[in-house]
Amino acid sequence: MGRRFGGTALGVALALTFAPSAAWAEDYEPIDCSEVKCVALTFDDGPGRYTKRYLKILRRHDAVATFFVIGSQVSGHKSLVKKMAAEGHEIASHTWNHPALTSLSGAQIDKQLERTARRIEKVTGVRPALVRPPYGSMNGRVLKAIGRSGASAILWDVDTRDWEHRSASRVFNHVKRDTRRGSIILMHDLHRASADALDRIITHLERRGFTLVTVSDILGGQPKDGKAYHSGLR
Ligand SMILES: [Zn+2]
Repeated sequence: MGRRFGGTALGVALALTFAPSAAWAEDYEPIDCSEVKCVALTFDDGPGRYTKRYLKILRRHDAVATFFVIGSQVSGHKSLVKKMAAEGHEIASHTWNHPALTSLSGAQIDKQLERTARRIEKVTGVRPALVRPPYGSMNGRVLKAIGRSGASAILWDVDTRDWEHRSASRVFNHVKRDTRRGSIILMHDLHRASADALDRIITHLERRGFTLVTVSDILGGQPKDGKAYHSGLR
């Protein structure tokens, strides 16, 4: 179990009618992570070369994830991003072009966030509610700007360090060792190693009784604007 929809018929209907958000669908049933053992997979820095492969693996497992996309890369991958949304994944902001936000002024941060939010909304019909600051680099100014943009800041508690070692077995071992109930797992959908590890990771998590959910779901459906979260543990 992992998807919020009962059958594929609804999934197909959603894709055809272009429903902008799963949350607006009539049959939407939020997952209660106080009852279910939830975990959230997150993918940064896409959409890119391997994103399609990620979607395929997630589809095969009937699982959802959250994609923190780079705003400037969305237009070049419009159909892919629409597909992500139609398949129930959450699409969130990883800024316009990946600067360390702490090095920018408040107005520059606003611009990074607003441009990205508008682009995502234009393609999916939904304004993103979550921002992941590049490099996890954050201070009070960054957090305030994220709050002004109507979003919350999402960090992680499980770091696969896939960008560093580029090894599928190490990515898997990080997840196996560190994942707890409520974990937010950081991966990057532009590395082949993570794509190679993904199927094994999901199989492992499912065997351990985890349900894969979006970040908004793991935060109880209503993350607070301008607040930073490392996991869904409350
Ligand atoms: Zn990044």
